[in-house]
Amino acid sequence: MNIHEYQASELLAAHGIPINRGRVATTPDEAADAAEAIGGTVVVKAQVHTGGRGKAGGVKLARSPDEARAAADAILGMDIKGHVVNKVLIAPGADIAKEFYLGIVLDRPARRHLIMASAEGGMDIEEVAVTAPDKIVRVSLDPLLGLRDYQARQLGFDLGIAADKINGFAKIVSQLAEVYLASDATLTEINPLILTGEGAWMALDAKVSFDDNALFRQTAAEGMRDMNEEQATEVEARKSGISFVKLDGDIGCIVNGAGLAMATMDAVKLSGGEPANFLDVGGGASAEQVAKAFALVTADPAVKAILINIFGGITRGDVVANGIREALGKVAVSVPIVVRLSGTNAEEGKAILAEAGLVAVDTMDEAAAQVVAAAA
Ligand code: GDP
Ligand code: MN
Repeated sequence: MNIHEYQASELLAAHGIPINRGRVATTPDEAADAAEAIGGTVVVKAQVHTGGRGKAGGVKLARSPDEARAAADAILGMDIKGHVVNKVLIAPGADIAKEFYLGIVLDRPARRHLIMASAEGGMDIEEVAVTAPDKIVRVSLDPLLGLRDYQARQLGFDLGIAADKINGFAKIVSQLAEVYLASDATLTEINPLILTGEGAWMALDAKVSFDDNALFRQTAAEGMRDMNEEQATEVEARKSGISFVKLDGDIGCIVNGAGLAMATMDAVKLSGGEPANFLDVGGGASAEQVAKAFALVTADPAVKAILINIFGGITRGDVVANGIREALGKVAVSVPIVVRLSGTNAEEGKAILAEAGLVAVDTMDEAAAQVVAAAA
């Protein structure tokens, strides 16, 4: 789960990191009032769950309340990479002497956390990683030992930070690691982390992503969720207890079991198709759940065919087949459906599906090939 910059900044501040605290505005007039209260030059920043706001024109300097009003007027309603701006942050204009990048991400293959830093801050770190990978320094964070002080200092030395600024930098690295671990984050990032003209460190931007699997114990996180930033279908799915992730392809997938759902997506890709979603209906797969799954999948206009992949284990094939038959009586599905059914009571299940006009195949490969052909 992602949160906005203004929320992430507060998390950083709670752990002692100096931030450029501002005020949130939802209208140009509120922006002008905020600029008035702050005084002097301010920066008006789009609050959306995506980076690259600067490049897209979503970050503007304003030297007066009137300029702040005009900047907010231009930024509010702007579409940045598919995210519509509903809020802006008005913050005191910072005096930037040097911009750095500092981020911590979950490094799944290494089963560790990875701290990355660069003296090429401000710009797209992905771009730096491609064009000048040696400009990014890395140190891995042992989840049990945590960050050791020498590691934070080493990062600073590797970046060529002046001796009298190393301790300040190392402190922010350790505070950011604290935010990361305490928030069950998969990402905490400051870009840019700046040195001001007076030589002080300050976080000028902040990004925090929570691990969805830890949200049950991150009780404060739920209050930071912005429904405008969530996929409507994913919100619906969460309410129904269905695990659903929208993807970019055109093959809708309805599967029982998360592992099987992953394997199904691989099978679709191996057959030359692209899955439109990940969907795990869960254990029971009642008619109601299957109907909800159909509704979620068919709500995506890109879906050209649906693959239902059921393996009867503890869940019996005939129960699921009944669910599918009943669901098809409740929701109109206008695209071709391919079913693969095997395992416990598969034969009984197939007979039920036949009544609904569906022919089930036995193997996943066959089903994937058929659904890709049906979508072509
Ligand atoms: P992003 O493009 O979405 O990552 O948004 P940022 O918050 O990182 O802002 C982009 C850039 O705008 C930064 O790298 C800075 O160069 C610039 N910027 C942001 N805040 C200020 C500020 O207060 N003063 C000045 N001069 N520049 C700023
Ligand atoms: Mn940034």
